[in-house]
Amino acid sequence: MHIVMDGKSVAKETEETLKERVDVLKKEKGFVPILATVLVGDDPASATYVKMKGNACERVGMKSVKVELPETTTTEELLRKIKELNSNKEVSGILLQHPVPSQIDERKCFDAIDVKKDVDGVTCLGFGNMSMGEKAYGSCTPQGIMRLLEHYNLELEGKHAVVVGRSPILGKPMAMMLLNKNATVTICHSKTQNLENLVKKADIVVGAVGIPKFIKGDWIKDGAIIVDAGYHPEQCGDIDLESCKERSLAYTPVPGGVGPMTINTLILQTIEACEL
Ligand code: NAP
Repeated sequence: MHIVMDGKSVAKETEETLKERVDVLKKEKGFVPILATVLVGDDPASATYVKMKGNACERVGMKSVKVELPETTTTEELLRKIKELNSNKEVSGILLQHPVPSQIDERKCFDAIDVKKDVDGVTCLGFGNMSMGEKAYGSCTPQGIMRLLEHYNLELEGKHAVVVGRSPILGKPMAMMLLNKNATVTICHSKTQNLENLVKKADIVVGAVGIPKFIKGDWIKDGAIIVDAGYHPEQCGDIDLESCKERSLAYTPVPGGVGPMTINTLILQTIEACEL
């Protein structure tokens, strides 16, 4: 019997507790957690993600303030806006929606976010702290995945995890989080050779490639834990799940697995920032 890691219902359950924490902050401290979302340009997918994050804030009784900047925004202009949000005492957390238009130095802007408000876990400092096992807000997608694995009591220690993808917001932090839980981690990317053979050895496979059904079902060994972070308009992820999920120990469905946990983690970390 395999376990379906149902991110949608885990996130929904957690929202009840988050609502209570927001109520306590409001009643006992007179604070309302505020997430500032910064959207640069008019990419429709990014606009949808920002909207979903704003809706999630509302559901738990938090506030979100939307900052929308034009496609032509410069690095300096964005840096000024981030500094303003850093010094705004009412703002608990800052989310700069990735990706920003190509003329902007995204790394510089991410790193301008005060680490205490880096609830999306995108700064180099936050990544370093997390990697060293120090207190830090984890990058939301991999942190959400770790929370999901923990929710289903899946043992990670000593397991061989293969993470396919090494992006700064997903593959790299994912690998460090698994390593911190004593998994043995292999990180794969576009220059990796014999990818199929590496995936075939994995007890835990994380698909974070961005190509629909890139990882084939027959690469996945029996009894593996399958985490599919991909999400594509054709309602599939980066792993050809249909052909391997029945043989797995546990898997994340697409949609309804990793996605809801990402937003839930952002909300959780914003509440934590406000509590601090
Ligand atoms: P990304 O920045 O495009 O990174 C993709 C990674 O895959 C890169 O490290 C790249 O390697 C690697 N890759 C590309 N082609 C490959 C190949 N042929 N063989 C092996 N590796 C290959 O993407 P991302 O932002 O990490 O996102 C990955 C996926 O997760 C996407 O489907 C995205 O939609 C999804 N995602 C979901 C959420 C969520 O909340 N559910 C959040 C973020 C992302 P190189 O480094 O060598 O280029």
